[in-house]
Amino acid sequence: MTGTTHPDVPAGITVHRWGAGNGDGMVIDVVTRGGSRVHGIGVEPPADASRANGPTWAYVIEDDGVTLVDPGHLGSFGFLADGLKVLGMKPSDVDRVVVTHGHWDHDGGVVEFAEASGAEFWAHELWRAYSPYSYGQLLRADESPLRVEMTRIGERMRDAGPRRYGGSVSSKSNRTGEPGDSERKPGGSGRDNYDAVRSGMKVDHALVDGFKQGSMEYLHTPGHWPDELTIRLGDLIFTGDHILPEITPHPSMAYKHPANLASTLPARYRDAGEVWGLRAYLNSLHRVYKLGRGLTVMPAHRLFNRDQFRMTDEGRAAETIAFHLERCDALVKAIDGGHTDLEPATRELFSYRPLTDSYHLMSAASETISHVELLEESGDMVVHDVEGADGVRLELTGSRNYRDVIGALIPG
Ligand SMILES: [Zn+2]
Repeated sequence: MTGTTHPDVPAGITVHRWGAGNGDGMVIDVVTRGGSRVHGIGVEPPADASRANGPTWAYVIEDDGVTLVDPGHLGSFGFLADGLKVLGMKPSDVDRVVVTHGHWDHDGGVVEFAEASGAEFWAHELWRAYSPYSYGQLLRADESPLRVEMTRIGERMRDAGPRRYGGSVSSKSNRTGEPGDSERKPGGSGRDNYDAVRSGMKVDHALVDGFKQGSMEYLHTPGHWPDELTIRLGDLIFTGDHILPEITPHPSMAYKHPANLASTLPARYRDAGEVWGLRAYLNSLHRVYKLGRGLTVMPAHRLFNRDQFRMTDEGRAAETIAFHLERCDALVKAIDGGHTDLEPATRELFSYRPLTDSYHLMSAASETISHVELLEESGDMVVHDVEGADGVRLELTGSRNYRDVIGALIPG
């Protein structure tokens, strides 16, 4: 194992193996200011997965035993094991595998890894609570006219045109899309097996906010997904998909918990709005921003891309909040301009993207809905279910309370 120095390698990082320009196959080391050793492996997705975000970065943390954070996609175990080998390690050296959240490019590899290693499996307690449910059971379109409409416009587009998947919904400086895309990407062996993998996996330790282990602290940071964890170790924060360089993670929509699930949840999750949707996401970003200064983000995607490290810090959380405030402004402008149904509003908001297939259109519509929901909750918008006709009608109330709601979360 030989370290490599290179002028573009940030201080504190050693590259053990260079990989592709997007980070596929890279293996690095980082040492925290407190002296804990961390290894990062760019775990390449399997052939049938979206490659829009490059690898899932798996981190191996040597602190109170060995912790692996995010084994990657179902089907990518070989890439992970190969990365461990470069580090002179093998799966059985890992004591516990932790997943940052329940998306298949993060937790899909858990079964293969647990079987090969004998490691314990740790996840947030909501991951455990959700795992018996398929995405179809959790993410119900029928509970909101907006989601009924999103399904309708997706089906209309699917009937009209070729079926294409992959890529991301993007803008110039902040791109939104996968993560969040891939779990909805149908087809392929990995996706077909994913619900079975989740439901069959037993959690050895269900994590709650504030749990400490060695020098690590686990924080519950819901919003991109309800069971999202951010892990702090000294001056490093492992952010999963909560905070990413280059792109803005897809916020979830404000789903409600199915009644049979809700009755089993601890009281702190009974208000689903605390864990699902854009407001939950922005609150979690604010919380991470307030953790302190000089924290280095170790993200699950885009640590390295376009042949360079894309290092970022807690300030990226504030940037992401500001991005969503601007997106709310743009949505208000679109509706003011007469784009009052979901598809026209979405197309106006994402006018820099062609949205020529069902997958990209629905992905963009779901992000639009996240913003509509926040405006609705803030009293700035009313959603009318247009009876007897397709579609919804988005109506502005004239107030702009969202500017104060979100503005209060952006550091001055
Ligand atoms: Zn995700």
